[in-house]
Amino acid sequence: PSATATTQKLWYDGELADPRALQATLGTHAMHYGSGVFEGIRAYATKRGAAVFRLAEHMERMRKGAEALGMRFDPAQATEAVLATMRANRHGDAYIRPLAWYGDGGFGLDVEGKPEHLMVATTATNVHLGGNRTRVSVSKWRRNPADSLPPLKLCGAYVNSILAKRDAKGRGFDEAMFTDADGFVVECTGANLFMVRGGKVTAVEHRDALPGITRDTLIQLTGAESRPVRFEEFVEADEVFACGTAAEVAPIAEIDGHAFRDSVVTREIAAAYAAAVRGESRTGAHWLTEV
Ligand code: PMP
Repeated sequence: PSATATTQKLWYDGELADPRALQATLGTHAMHYGSGVFEGIRAYATKRGAAVFRLAEHMERMRKGAEALGMRFDPAQATEAVLATMRANRHGDAYIRPLAWYGDGGFGLDVEGKPEHLMVATTATNVHLGGNRTRVSVSKWRRNPADSLPPLKLCGAYVNSILAKRDAKGRGFDEAMFTDADGFVVECTGANLFMVRGGKVTAVEHRDALPGITRDTLIQLTGAESRPVRFEEFVEADEVFACGTAAEVAPIAEIDGHAFRDSVVTREIAAAYAAAVRGESRTGAHWLTEV
């Protein structure tokens, strides 16, 4: 189904509208050059109604991306847009997609003076935490290096993830992970990586990886250390998992034929995360913005 038509109402440039009534023109700059920035945010049904998880942090990351592109992005306006769309669509659990982009202002790479747009779409989600264990393969592609493309959610940057995902799926895996030329683990196509060894939890750190908000949440919940990890060490761990707003805490079953026996600690971490996002944990009440 269409990603935006499944939402009843979509926020577009200051108004809530029926998505079927909206169109973007074929000259849209972001469509030609990837000149946009987006976020992926989740809201969860809690005892006090729907609440958006770590909205301020998502808005701050989006602001950085918009700044890199020279956009006049206003996080306060985007925050209101997110909440207004959530209210209009009466969601409980939801995935929220804000996107800021350059519209139709002629060809050419200079974005100065090009029209800017902002939309927010929301879709209802059925959350299945700790579901199927993912089968992962190391990508033949390298992650966009941070000194070429900052690790932010810039639209064009995601072509790198699309290539890696396509390659991994074409070879029968669910997901790709990136390593760098020096043999260090970077991240997956849309999620960060962790390992567990002897009960000790380690968050993979890499300058080319997106500074994930789920990653930060899990570091705070588990007291995990954060450091660079070589691939040889990573595959020798007892358990490995990916994490992200959409992925939540996703146990990994296999990396290129190397099997991880179980995901016991990972499932405990997934449960702790599930409690935090639903406001049922002592940690992180301040992470929730009630709709
Ligand atoms: N890495 C990449 C490349 C991503 O797209 C995402 C999803 N936003 C993540 C990591 C995880 O980040 P977060 O936990 O903030 O969703």
